[in-house]
Formats: sequence, C-alpha cells, structure tokens
Amino acid sequence: MRLLHDRPRVALAIYAHPDDADVAAGGTLARWSSLGCAVHLVVACQGDKGTHHSHEGGHDLVTRRSAEVERAGAHLGLTSVDLLGVPDGEVVNDLDLRRRLVGLIRRFRPDVVLGPDPSAVFFGGVYVNHRDHRETGWALLDAVAPAAAMPLYFPETGPAHAVRYLLLSGTHEPDAAVDVTASIEAKVAAVLEHRSQMGGETAEIGEVVRARAAQGARDLGVGFVETFRRVQFTE
Ligand SMILES: [Zn+2]
Repeated sequence: MRLLHDRPRVALAIYAHPDDADVAAGGTLARWSSLGCAVHLVVACQGDKGTHHSHEGGHDLVTRRSAEVERAGAHLGLTSVDLLGVPDGEVVNDLDLRRRLVGLIRRFRPDVVLGPDPSAVFFGGVYVNHRDHRETGWALLDAVAPAAAMPLYFPETGPAHAVRYLLLSGTHEPDAAVDVTASIEAKVAAVLEHRSQMGGETAEIGEVVRARAAQGARDLGVGFVETFRRVQFTE
C-alpha cells in the first residue's frame, strides 16, 4: 500500500447511487477540494429503490435523495453534481451510457477519475456487489480507456481527453491510500446527510465511518485513509 500525495487539478467521481461517492471516497474528494482541486460528481442512479419498505420508494424518495446529494456535496466542497437519473437496478454499460460518460470526461477534463471497481463481486462471503456498481464501473472503465482519449469515439461529445489515472473503490486489490485525516469529519458529515439510507443512530454511523477509515492508517503513519486500486495511464 502506497500513500498518494497527488494533488490533482481536476477530479471526476462517477458512482452508481446517491450515497456511494461519500461512503467510498468522500474524504478524498473533500481533501482535494480543500486544496483547490475542482471536484465533479456524477451519480448514475435516481436512488428510487433505496429502501426496504415498498411504500417509501418512487418519486418522493428520488426528490429526497437528490436533496441529500446536494447537501452532502456542500460538505465535500464539490464543484458540480450531475444526476444521470437512471432508475435503480437499470444501469447498463451500453453505448448510450458510455457516450454520456465520455461527454462528461471531455467536458471536465479530469486528471483522475474515481469510481467502483467492477471486478469485485463477492465480499467476505456475505455480500454480492450491487449490479449498478458493477455496470457503472465497467462503463467508466470503457469510457476512460480508450474512448474519451481517442477522437474517433463519440466525436460529437467534444475533443479527446486522456485521463492520467483511475482510483477504484470497493476493490479486492487496493494499492493506493489517500490520507483523509484532515477531511474525515467532512466525510462523516456528508455520509450523515443520506438520512433516507440510515436505520441507526447518527453517532454510531459516524463511528463506523471513522473506524473503517482508521483501518490500515496507522501502518502508513496517518490517522485516517481511504484506499483504492490505482491504474496509472500516464504520469
Ligand atoms: Zn450503491
């Protein structure tokens, strides 16, 4: 595991559900925005099925979750948020989604793209990675490499842009850590904005976020980290 000291100029986070980016990379996004980085977030799904109670879903939940994304984004200092509005469970890595992602990559021209590692399926024998996470992850990989970087792919979406590196979360092969000691409370605040997704006490959820971020941090000589699988295309 290597501690990343990178300070990108522009970062683009592409995640499936309204709370995914905050949970996976909120500390990293907050750290970078505090250092002057432009941080853009793209959320593929509406969040319309993010409940275990059948009477709570649909339009009201979409409205509520969109507002949660906005408030969470304020804690992280996000530059922009794009909600693609795909119904939960219906993300497909198809030509249309890749075109939309390539268009966003060419518009924002990020140094780094963050998102879910689609190759991680099973976690600890107790969890199967959500299909929306996997489809979003495959779509962003395909959009970054090679499509966005090569001009003949989706030429109508603007001039080609080569992303320098990827940071993939929810991975079985983490090799890069970002020190989020200074931004852990911004992450906690962002995660806690997603009240529609919470059953427990906010104090307990904050402790879970801190405990998870503390794992492996001491070995790297810092207080809290977020870890990623890194793919470095160019320096
Ligand atoms: Zn999710």
